[in-house]
Amino acid sequence: MELKKNQEILLTIEDFTREGEGLGKYQGFPLFVKDTVIGDKAKVSVTKLKKNYGYARLVEILEPSPDRVTPPCPVARQCGGCKIQQLSYEKQKEFKWNQVANCLKRIGGFDGIEAKMEPIYGMEHPWRYRNKAQYPIGLDKDGSIIAGFYAGRTHTIVPNTDCLIQAEVNKDILEIILRYLRKNHIRPYDEKSHTGLVRHVLTRVGFVTGEIMVCLVLNGKKEQLKNSAALVEQLRQIPGMTSIMVNTNKEKTNRILGASCETLWGRDYIEDYIGDVRYQIGPLSFFQVNPVQTKVLYSKALEYAGLKGEEIVWDLYCGIGTISLFLAQKAKQVYGVEIVKEAIDDARRNAALNQMDNVTFYVGKAEEIVPAEYQRTGIRPDVIVVDPPRKGCDETLLHTMTTMAPSRIVYVSCDPGTLARDCRILCEEGYEIERVAVVDQFGHSCHVESVCLLSNSKCTDLKSESTDA
Ligand code: SAH
Repeated sequence: MELKKNQEILLTIEDFTREGEGLGKYQGFPLFVKDTVIGDKAKVSVTKLKKNYGYARLVEILEPSPDRVTPPCPVARQCGGCKIQQLSYEKQKEFKWNQVANCLKRIGGFDGIEAKMEPIYGMEHPWRYRNKAQYPIGLDKDGSIIAGFYAGRTHTIVPNTDCLIQAEVNKDILEIILRYLRKNHIRPYDEKSHTGLVRHVLTRVGFVTGEIMVCLVLNGKKEQLKNSAALVEQLRQIPGMTSIMVNTNKEKTNRILGASCETLWGRDYIEDYIGDVRYQIGPLSFFQVNPVQTKVLYSKALEYAGLKGEEIVWDLYCGIGTISLFLAQKAKQVYGVEIVKEAIDDARRNAALNQMDNVTFYVGKAEEIVPAEYQRTGIRPDVIVVDPPRKGCDETLLHTMTTMAPSRIVYVSCDPGTLARDCRILCEEGYEIERVAVVDQFGHSCHVESVCLLSNSKCTDLKSESTDA
């Protein structure tokens, strides 16, 4: 092989990986090139060579692909956040829809699945869509305090106070905080020496309520934030400011938040809505980051569940119960299962906040709780909803589900590969895919969210037979 590291070559990009990298072949040898899209003709520089493939860096676009756009964010290339801003939003949607179709076909063996797939539900405005941001605080080369985002795969901070997928108000918040830190000579945290105080700034914005939370993550307690009254005084002038908090994280860890929080000013939570359901969100709460598209996704799940008011529904991997509460508006009884205890605390509080008494939550592994409860009560659900993490459902859980024989299974997925694998198992045991919807929750990233309705007509029959008997 003639290729060498740092060699500059011309490459035509022919494919696009699931991670959003362009792929071109140099004399048959595949090279992955970040920041390129299918159809680009580019000058690239080889960065790494393996036996059967390599990586290269984009040097210059010679002929742009018709699908290429100029990323509106000036630091799109350096920042580790948006990976595919250079691809037009129309093509991003196509890329995501095709990924779901391809996984269902290749991994699931569902030929002709396209006919069951709805057109993708894209964002109307694919910018400023996130309600939560976490900015690392650090020093630049000249020693000035900066806030921004980590560059891809490193902890180098790319300074940016105005990220285009975050709320505009974050810029004002960060500028106030940076000014305050400079004026009071407060040092940012340094990972290498494990010294300094301020690690991250977390913001949360309620899109419906307009309520704002700012949380400074410190390698220390709130008393170490000298003159904090001055900071509070400035921040509370921002319309919507509801909660100013400190989170303590003294560990040598990549985890952003520590376990304990203190309030500097205001409440210790903000509220927001998804549809008609109200949620209280603290600094540590898990909450979907794109509330507008979450409503689209969960409305689809609710539609697929086909509830009329008399149903018994399980919501597995329920998190803080977002889907459970959505379903409870239309079902007789909902049971939610989640492994993280704090999430279930939030779920129960939110059920009470919305005066919903037809939801019961369990803390534990879905694959343990569900068979145990089924054995104890023998009650068959009408619908089971699952929303597992990327690794998908535990296989034993899938078998328990088909044994419980609900007439409908609604599978909400953040990974089309495991969705396809799990649907295949469900279909081998009598279910059939009826509908699939892809909902874009994370424009300019490679994340793909979808929801799939599976049904088993025999199960409905069985049930009506048993009620007749
Ligand atoms: N439906 C939730 C989000 C689900 S994310 C919402 O709308 O907010 C996946 C969830 O599955 C996470 O909260 C994770 O803690 C949980 N989880 C992971 N493994 C689990 C298991 N074996 N049993 C139950 N829950 C699990």
